[in-house]
Amino acid sequence: MHTQGYIQLENEFGAMNYRPLDIVLTRGQGIWVWDVDGNKYMDCLSAYSAVNQGHCHPKIAAVMKEQAEKLTLTSRAFRNDQLGLFYKELCELTHSHTVLPMNSGAEAVESAIKAVRKWGYREHGVPEGRAEVIACENNFHGRTITIVGFSTEPQYRDGYSPFTPGFRVIPFGNSQALEQAITPNTVAFLVEPIQGEAGIILPPDGYLREVRRICDERGIVMITDEIQTGLGRTGKMLAEEHEGIEADLTLIGKALSGGFYPVSAVLSNQEVLGVFQPGDHGSTFGGNPMACAVARVALRVLVEEGMIENAAKMGDYFLSCLRTVKSPNIKEIRGRGLMIGVELVEEAGGARRFCEALSARGLLCKETHKNVIRIAPPLVIRREEIDWAMERIATVLTQG
Ligand SMILES: *Cc1c(COP(=O)(O)O)cnc(C)c1O
Repeated sequence: MHTQGYIQLENEFGAMNYRPLDIVLTRGQGIWVWDVDGNKYMDCLSAYSAVNQGHCHPKIAAVMKEQAEKLTLTSRAFRNDQLGLFYKELCELTHSHTVLPMNSGAEAVESAIKAVRKWGYREHGVPEGRAEVIACENNFHGRTITIVGFSTEPQYRDGYSPFTPGFRVIPFGNSQALEQAITPNTVAFLVEPIQGEAGIILPPDGYLREVRRICDERGIVMITDEIQTGLGRTGKMLAEEHEGIEADLTLIGKALSGGFYPVSAVLSNQEVLGVFQPGDHGSTFGGNPMACAVARVALRVLVEEGMIENAAKMGDYFLSCLRTVKSPNIKEIRGRGLMIGVELVEEAGGARRFCEALSARGLLCKETHKNVIRIAPPLVIRREEIDWAMERIATVLTQG
């Protein structure tokens, strides 16, 4: 079967909640993927940063195969021999004290919201039913009803009401707005260190430090959603390290399994997670031995193979190359590590057609927020591969 056949099957039997590029992939290795017609592409999206370690990393694949034949799921009714080691290794790498394992990113966000609400009632004197969480405009934290309820993207909310109350939204990157929005019922501030889905939006330098100071002063919980920025993407293990701070709760997911399996976690470096008593929260698959084994090796290769340092170096190189491109289509180039956005001017007619032109030349990117081309290859990319990508990007940006 060829491309059109697979696309017809998807269109006939699948819900239409996505509009992917019309490329049907069948194989991946490192930064490269192949389609069913045998064409090869460089992956500059990395499944929204879930395959930071590169596609089908052989060490992760080997552990997954081995664990698949040994023990995959016990539920949390019983213990398994991977969970404790996963906790310990993850805590050591991220300077955390406690881990709550979940599956998808949205579940990690939901779990953190449950934790801070309960913490607010038990430890912060908030009257039952009144807890407030502050989030930012243009946030992206996932797709559950509660989470889209505090999204500012109309399409994410349209038709899904009624929503969960208890959220307030303030401008991103504005610490004064945070200071003013806090009330006696505020329990937490939820923020992405860099807004990914909003179009790779970097806050002003010092923002996270200011947020840290305000959260300390007002006694509220600082939650960073590092599901996309974490695990090496920005050139540090966690993006918060760029500002030398530690959030109280940190959410990770995506690359936690190197793209093999949905694994997410809430990391805590204070006692917020301590509010959970047995039975208060749970997940059938959260913390299963397969997830833990895969996550352990995914973290190990990230560190042992120098991927985080490579992301920092190659990110700087990629950004400097992009900044040499002279094109009236470009409005701004921004990013940190290998989380890069090329914002186009309004007159360029949207980023989608540029992404389509790039895919025809063997480079897969994804437009985000209409006018931004997101460039986020796996963290194993090398200089000569960036040169290869740049030839195509420069051509498309200047011809388009
Ligand atoms: C992808 C993402 C999520 C949601 O993760 P899912 O696994 O898709 O539920 C949440 N927050 C951020 C910042 C993300 O990039």
